[in-house]
Formats: sequence, C-alpha cells, structure tokens
Amino acid sequence: MRSLVTMVAAVGLLLGAAAPAGAHGRVSPDIVDTASGRGNVVSLTFDDGPNPPDTPALLDVLRRHRVKAVFCLWGDHVVAHPEVVRAIARAGHTLCNHSMHHDDLTALTPEQIAADLRATSAAIRRAVPHARIPFFRAPYGAWGASADVAASLGMRPLGWRYDIADWEPPGTDVLVQRLLDRLTPGAVVLAHDGGGDRSQTVAAVDRVIPVLKAQRWRFTLPRGC
Ligand SMILES: [Zn+2]
Repeated sequence: MRSLVTMVAAVGLLLGAAAPAGAHGRVSPDIVDTASGRGNVVSLTFDDGPNPPDTPALLDVLRRHRVKAVFCLWGDHVVAHPEVVRAIARAGHTLCNHSMHHDDLTALTPEQIAADLRATSAAIRRAVPHARIPFFRAPYGAWGASADVAASLGMRPLGWRYDIADWEPPGTDVLVQRLLDRLTPGAVVLAHDGGGDRSQTVAAVDRVIPVLKAQRWRFTLPRGC
C-alpha cells in the first residue's frame, strides 16, 4: 500500500513538472469567456493588481458578500506586493497569470512569451508556494501566440464577455449601471483592481452584488478551472 502511495505521489510530481498549473495535463488553448453553471451566472474577474489599498478593500467586499472571483495578476505588482497576493489566495480566490510587465505580447515570439509567463508564475509562487494558477489573460486582450503558449504551460486562456471600462473611472454610479445593464447570463466580466485608483470599482462591486443576488444571480468561476 505504501509503495502504491509513493508511486502515485511520484507520478503526481512528474505530471506537476510537465503541467505546472493544470493538474490533469492537457489544457485547451480555446479562450474561455463563459461562467460555469446554468442560468443567471456571472464570473467576476479583476485585472492588473495586486494594488493596495484597492485590492485589500475589494477582498473585504467579496468576503462580506461571500463571492469568489478571479484575480489576473501583473507580475511586477506581484513582486512589489506579495503580501496582497497571499491575502487573495488565502481568501480562496482563483489566480490568473497576466504577464510580467503588461506588454503587448503580439510583438513577442512564442519563446519570449513562454519565458515571460514562466517568470510571472514563478513570481506568484514566490509569494504563494505551490499556488494553483489555472488561467492566463493576455494584456489588452492582444493574444498573439500567447493562448497556445499558456495552454502548453497548463493555463487556460481567460477572455471576457464584457469590460466595464473602469480604466478611466467614470464615477461609481456609472459603473453600477454598466454592471447591471450589460449583464447577460454566463458572462465573464472584466473589471480592474489595479493600474490606478480603483476605489470606484470597489464601491460599484459592493453595491451591485446584493442587487444581483436579490435577483437570484449566482457568482461562479469561469469554465475550465
Ligand atoms: Zn491588464
């Protein structure tokens, strides 16, 4: 029995080495933009953090409303704020590789992209050892070869159904209205917790979640993780 356990553990290690994020080997390079589950489901995804104080404030909002989300992490910011990455992981949210420097990856070769994505995952795992990173999202949605490269590294490319365009903060009321008006069942929604002052996004999410829950929407993770 013990030898079987040892063997299974050894195979697990080998698989882990071949596919660092997806524990079960092959990952589809198809870009996923759909929330898991049926009916009125939505996945919240937040890009460009970690970014104190907005990311910790967002974590507090999500904790109070009991919602799990995906955080697409910018490697340079991971290096600057590893404690915030730990807080994200500790809260049970899902991690997504968003490249090291937020470059336009369409200008890079597959080898250069692979080096960037590996460096980003390594930075995340320096903050959170053995972190599961099931997703990759290309900066600007400029995929180039990165969807295939990410899949080969065990990360599913994560797209989105709509972007609330909060990179130029239009006011919390406008963000709330965008979130409520544009929502369709199964949408993966893109918002930002980093890359600038995201306090309006945090406030909007805090207001929108109870409204949607009252309308029986459910918050699920994207398919494929
Ligand atoms: Zn981004």
